[in-house]
Amino acid sequence: MSDATSKRRFSPGTTIDDLKAYMGPFAARLGYKFNTDEDFVAMVLEGEIEVLDRDGDVYCPCRMRTGDPKEDLKIVCPCIPFYTDQFSAMSKCWCGLFIRTDVEDGSTLHGVIEAPDGPVDVRVAATGDLADGQGRVVAVGKRKLALFRVDGEFFCLENVCKHLWAPLGEGYLDGHFVMCPWHGWRYDVRTGTTDHPDADVRTFAVTVLGGEVFVRI
Ligand code: SF4
Repeated sequence: MSDATSKRRFSPGTTIDDLKAYMGPFAARLGYKFNTDEDFVAMVLEGEIEVLDRDGDVYCPCRMRTGDPKEDLKIVCPCIPFYTDQFSAMSKCWCGLFIRTDVEDGSTLHGVIEAPDGPVDVRVAATGDLADGQGRVVAVGKRKLALFRVDGEFFCLENVCKHLWAPLGEGYLDGHFVMCPWHGWRYDVRTGTTDHPDADVRTFAVTVLGGEVFVRI
């Protein structure tokens, strides 16, 4: 028989190790890992077990439940798929239980903070990932962007040609112009402009710091 109880992934009696065994691989597939601060991880997971024993599921210990079951499903741990843009920008989940796999030290990424207010710079590549005259598609959460390197400078555009939505990051670079890989529409990587009417694409500010490339979202 299928009822709400039998569908739950965890039951009372679940241990921290049980949670780790399930959540670790799940998060890894999404580009996250447990915080490197093991004491902090144990503390958050203990909190989740208390919530599980009391409320029947591993609701996030650092988020408020709304009482709407559909909405509250979005804060069952790990809630990463629901907040990929925000978490990618913060390098962590709301609580800091999970951090992005490229973060070496998560000890300063504890705690509850809300979504960043205003633009944030998100690391998308190392400078050495692109040779001059190359482009590539990079991901910021669910969003795909096109990153280019010309004469040592980096440029970032929306990853869509406005003709038929081809990925511009896979296009061919000719100086500061990228040709769409499907039908050759030409965009200036500095401005996102093209000769075709109403077909310009959005640009994103790029900063290079310590060999890392950041895009302002
Ligand atoms: S914010 Fe972190 S700890 Fe809270 S539910 Fe989401 S993944 Fe789990």
